[in-house]
Amino acid sequence: MSILDSKIPEGPLADKWTNYKNKINLVNPANKRNIDIIVVGTGLAGGSAAATLAELGYNVKTFCYQDSPRRAHSIAAQGGINAAKNYQGDGDSNYRLFYDTVKGGDYRSREANVYRLAEVSANIIDQCVAQGVPFAREYGGLLDNRSFGGVLVSRTFYAKGQTGQQLLLGAYSAMNRQINRGKIQSFNRHEMLDIVKIDGKARGIIARDLVTGKIERHSAHAVVLATGGYGNVFFLSTNAMGSNITAAWKAHRRGAFMANPCYTQIHPTCIPVSGDHQSKLTLMSESLRNDGRIWVPQSLEDVKAIREGKKKPVDLSEEERDYYLERRYPAFGNLVPRDVASRAAKERCDAGFGVNKTGEAVYLDFATAINRYGKEQAMIHGNHNPTDQEIYNLGREVIENKYGNLFQMYEKIVDENPYKTPMMIYPAVHYTMGGLWVDYNLQTTIEGCYCAGEANFSDHGANRLGASALMQGLADGYFVLPYTIGDYLSADIRTGKISTDGPEFDQVEKDVQTRIDKLMNASGAHSVDYYHKKLGKIMWNKCGMSRNALELTEAIAEIASLREDFWKNVNIPGIAESMNPELEKAGRVADFLELGELFAKDALHRNESAGGHYREESVEQSGEQKGEALRDDENFKYVAAWEYQGEPKDATLHKEDLVFENIELKTRSYK
Ligand SMILES: Cc1cc2nc3c(=O)[nH]c(=O)nc-3n(C[C@H](O)[C@H](O)[C@H](O)COP(=O)(O)OP(=O)(O)OC[C@H]3O[C@@H](n4cnc5c(N)ncnc54)[C@H](O)[C@@H]3O)c2cc1C
Repeated sequence: MSILDSKIPEGPLADKWTNYKNKINLVNPANKRNIDIIVVGTGLAGGSAAATLAELGYNVKTFCYQDSPRRAHSIAAQGGINAAKNYQGDGDSNYRLFYDTVKGGDYRSREANVYRLAEVSANIIDQCVAQGVPFAREYGGLLDNRSFGGVLVSRTFYAKGQTGQQLLLGAYSAMNRQINRGKIQSFNRHEMLDIVKIDGKARGIIARDLVTGKIERHSAHAVVLATGGYGNVFFLSTNAMGSNITAAWKAHRRGAFMANPCYTQIHPTCIPVSGDHQSKLTLMSESLRNDGRIWVPQSLEDVKAIREGKKKPVDLSEEERDYYLERRYPAFGNLVPRDVASRAAKERCDAGFGVNKTGEAVYLDFATAINRYGKEQAMIHGNHNPTDQEIYNLGREVIENKYGNLFQMYEKIVDENPYKTPMMIYPAVHYTMGGLWVDYNLQTTIEGCYCAGEANFSDHGANRLGASALMQGLADGYFVLPYTIGDYLSADIRTGKISTDGPEFDQVEKDVQTRIDKLMNASGAHSVDYYHKKLGKIMWNKCGMSRNALELTEAIAEIASLREDFWKNVNIPGIAESMNPELEKAGRVADFLELGELFAKDALHRNESAGGHYREESVEQSGEQKGEALRDDENFKYVAAWEYQGEPKDATLHKEDLVFENIELKTRSYK
């Protein structure tokens, strides 16, 4: 086991990034023209990185598996993006954003990275406004803010419930400018299937053209992976259907360490599972917790009556409801962080208070907000004696303006009007804090291979706060990578073009082809989805919202044997030399079947609870925090980075000790 060097710059926290930038090596504009960079992934992280690197003068090649960068999973982001601009004058600052993020991640993230994130957060908003991103504005024209979980300020910038879409259009426009200039060569419908190293450095990739099935070689002086998260290892998640681990996993197999793979975020406000036919779950944005109140009935009789259809939620008086988050966490109420809110929902449902047929749903109710806004609007309109209907109409209009598209989405899926009756929600897999280990420069343990956005492990520790993923992805792409990668590439100004004809490319291409052949030649007993669903069930039941040693040990064995069966018996119709979506899926599921085992192994070794990783063996037993996650700072205050050794079970652990010099390690409390 080694101790990893995170390359954190010297000096006081607030000066590190500035000092670092002042001292790094630069590449002059003429030399940038001779340097190629591959960016795999054109979501917010990859799109922003590609556009900025090309603007700087590098030759960029981008890859994505969709037919356009505009369809990256980032487009689904709803609620907003954080920035410490303190527009509300409510006490926000870089330090507070830094503090909230480290505390929100249950003190399992790297101080220097998180501070840098807070520091550049305000620039992101300026950048996006300059691109024309239509952030919501207040009456006076200033940018509006709302609150997200785990904080006591309003720092979330948003574009209705479509923030990711608008930000991605901004990044894509910036990319397009470079495509038109010939500085970005964009390879859509291409999937990276492996990374090529020459003399230990990342020098290219092997990709499959998903339309023709052709295997291609692409070289560059550095490779950036911005390929998103791996929540789909659970089969059911709020992620886009195509989200996967393949690119990162292939880098892992070639030497990039995988950090904290067990840190998964389970989001509290999703539309509950409705049956076995589903392939995807739908998020109801966290922004809804600004105004929605979460509750279940106080009594089990009412639960029974509701489940049997004899009572409706609106029949229950205030006294008959248990607003359990407000009761348990008075300081943060409905805006506790996601891991806390998810566990609290599970606790109520496990105790029998779930309100749908399967007992796995709680209410998210807007009646109080509609009433409050309605009364306020009536006052504003000079109506001092409004009727109930007038209050409702006015209040509903406010809610519709804020969250209209989310309410419409809910109604379309559930066929219930959420203005009239509370939404039903339940936690679902949403985001992965784990990912490829990167140092301060965002470089993985493969020299010249960088990783950005959700695909890296960097900033969120054991739990990500809402609206921080967009911030991190765009920070990485617009403001961090363009500096750090330049420092590395300054050594390459005389290297010249990297050839794709060498033995290294030959070998990796052969490996890719062998794997495809093996998949195509399996016996054909079961579909890819059959295996993916089985894997998802193991992950959800044994590595989900709460975990214990026995079930994690079982999960490791079950995943290994499922993987063995998959390679013998998977069924892939069609041929490899053409478009073949089943083959694409099979490759991704094959990698999930390895990652899943490492995930369970990581969860088993981390015998503490931290953020989203809740070990039943490590729970506060008494006092105010009874039942909450119990960290073990003495033994687990580190990032777990796993080195591939042939089989996930054989992966070796490397530790990056986390040093807290600017923040006091405390029990994380939201009471
Ligand atoms: C429903 C939903 C709502 C969300 N809302 C918010 C929010 O309001 N605020 C917030 O901060 N966060 C939110 N998030 C999280 C956030 O959207 C994501 O973390 C973020 O967008 C990830 O961006 P990314 O650029 O890292 O990856 P992605 O957007 O997932 O992009 C991945 C890219 O990699 C490409 N790719 C992947 N594998 C390969 C391969 N092998 N070869 C070639 N290309 C590949 C894809 O084609 C794609 O271009 C939300 C997430 C979900 C699921």
